[in-house]
Amino acid sequence: TPPALIRNFCIIAHIDHGKSTLADRMLQMTGVVEERLMRDQYLDRMDLERERGITIKSQAVRLPFTPSAGPDAGTTHVLNLIDTPGHVDFSYEVSRSLAACEGTILLVDAAQGIEAQTLANLYLALDHDLQIIPVLNKIDLPAAQPDKYAAELAHLIGCDTGDILRVSGKTGEGVAELLERVVSEVPPPVGDADAPARAMIFDSVYDTYRGVVTYVRVVDGALASRERIFMMSTKATHELLEIGVISPEMKPVAGLGVGEVGYLITGVKDVRQSKVGDTVTLNARPATEPLPGYREPKPMVFSGLYPLDGSQYSDLRDALDKLKLNDASLTYEPETSGALGFGFRCGFLGLLHLEIIRERLEREFGLELISTAPNVIYDVLMEDGQRHAVMNPSEFPTGKIASVREPMVRATVLAPSEFVGAIMELCQSRRGSMRGMDYLSEDRVELRYTMPLSEIVFDFFDALKSRTRGYASLDYEPTDDAEADLVKVDILLNGDPVDAFSAIVHKDKAYSYGVAMASKLKELIPRQQFEVPIQAAVGSRIIARENIRAIRKDVLAKCYGGDITRKRKLIERQKEGKRRMKTVGRVEVPQEAFIAALSSD
Ligand code: GDP
Ligand code: MG
Repeated sequence: TPPALIRNFCIIAHIDHGKSTLADRMLQMTGVVEERLMRDQYLDRMDLERERGITIKSQAVRLPFTPSAGPDAGTTHVLNLIDTPGHVDFSYEVSRSLAACEGTILLVDAAQGIEAQTLANLYLALDHDLQIIPVLNKIDLPAAQPDKYAAELAHLIGCDTGDILRVSGKTGEGVAELLERVVSEVPPPVGDADAPARAMIFDSVYDTYRGVVTYVRVVDGALASRERIFMMSTKATHELLEIGVISPEMKPVAGLGVGEVGYLITGVKDVRQSKVGDTVTLNARPATEPLPGYREPKPMVFSGLYPLDGSQYSDLRDALDKLKLNDASLTYEPETSGALGFGFRCGFLGLLHLEIIRERLEREFGLELISTAPNVIYDVLMEDGQRHAVMNPSEFPTGKIASVREPMVRATVLAPSEFVGAIMELCQSRRGSMRGMDYLSEDRVELRYTMPLSEIVFDFFDALKSRTRGYASLDYEPTDDAEADLVKVDILLNGDPVDAFSAIVHKDKAYSYGVAMASKLKELIPRQQFEVPIQAAVGSRIIARENIRAIRKDVLAKCYGGDITRKRKLIERQKEGKRRMKTVGRVEVPQEAFIAALSSD
């Protein structure tokens, strides 16, 4: 297809504003999915695939479309709809997807208005110079207020309210006009057809049957089946076993040229060999310069994952190996905890990434896990000149420390201006220093901070959301690390330190942290047969103490002589409760204690 007839675009929206539903309508209206295959069945099948991890999810669907009005009427165009993940943890992936497009549909729910992710995504799109088509969705809803939100949206992006399309992804109203707007407003791709090939990888997924499927957007030159390709960052060469487009299934084609979007299959089995952001060129005539934007995914947040049942250790290792095939940014290495036994220290891009992996391990692999408090990596310099990279707080060295450095981020918070005071207070309490503040409009403000990553990892987003009624959006990027006055706080149960509860905190916060942890654990750990002291300590100095009093009576004593079924029920219930208990020393600690104790407030 000549570039003049290609339009590459994506849809950006806050979650639940109707992105997937609108995409379905587009598949249907362009005839890519047959009418009889559409509806629930089609989607169900996709769901199942997604659940099993054999992703044939449409990452970039090719839609043939012929406008019936306007200057391009009657000419068939190729529209490539590129999917984007929507969260800050994956902002690098989002930004790679956006870099593959020339335009975007900014979708806003006409009953909700602009929300946090609408803004975060809009700013990312503006960073990439994308043509923005503002659209109000769900106008069929009785609660829709299209006039009100059209004014809000027009104000935000500086357009006329009349430029804002009103559609319903559910009924299909306005969707044909929207596709016509895509053709007339999104610029066609530009590239040098005669230059050495350069294609950008914007996604790669592992498919059980085909191996790694790599999604690319060709910028210059062309790629064809059977050619040998060269990955510019990994320096690996592979044969192109298959090249094709998704419409809506994988369809092999002879080759892809300037501006085209499609997939590559090389037979490799590990997504690490097909890195998002990398540039693909041809082995025979390689490009000299890669496309901008390759960055190694670097784990930022670490947590220990332990099977509740020690015999599941090797199952956990196998599950991590499998997930790694599809997720280059996941790292893990074995570790042993006095409290939790054998497990793995895992590295993640951020908290959401951690949660997703944890949930997949439990849901897809049937594992029951305990995860320790998320922490960042510390660079510890000893007085004798030795250096340690500390990924696990319990391994914080005990000798004479010269300095500790911690990772820092540049954080950007966008919120309605009424929340400025609350946000500033929060950022200051999290050791942030302000870099600047701008009013984007009368009532929207952008605050920029430099902050320790550890403070963000520790529930910052939740705190921010609750202080701004969900209206703030947050984005952050790593910057140079910085020296800080940090100490390790240990928690002792019955006199024994519990390594999983150790934390590294700022010296000024050690006392309040110790007090809060001790009192929280007192709530979370049930009474035992004997009294259990809980202590917080910095080195050998005890900074806080609580006591869990001993239980007096056996629960069964209550039904002594009582009816037997009631007794049996009680025993069952006790067993159920114990299932998720971990015995630490002589003390039984419920799993919730590990999770709850480690989240703030
Ligand atoms: P996404 O998270 O942006 O992909 O949103 P979905 O497409 O999954 O939609 C979220 C919810 O909104 C679903 O329950 C949809 O059925 C519903 N929805 C999406 N578009 C419309 C619409 O145009 N009208 C109405 N009434 N509901 C819609
Ligand atoms: Mg969706």
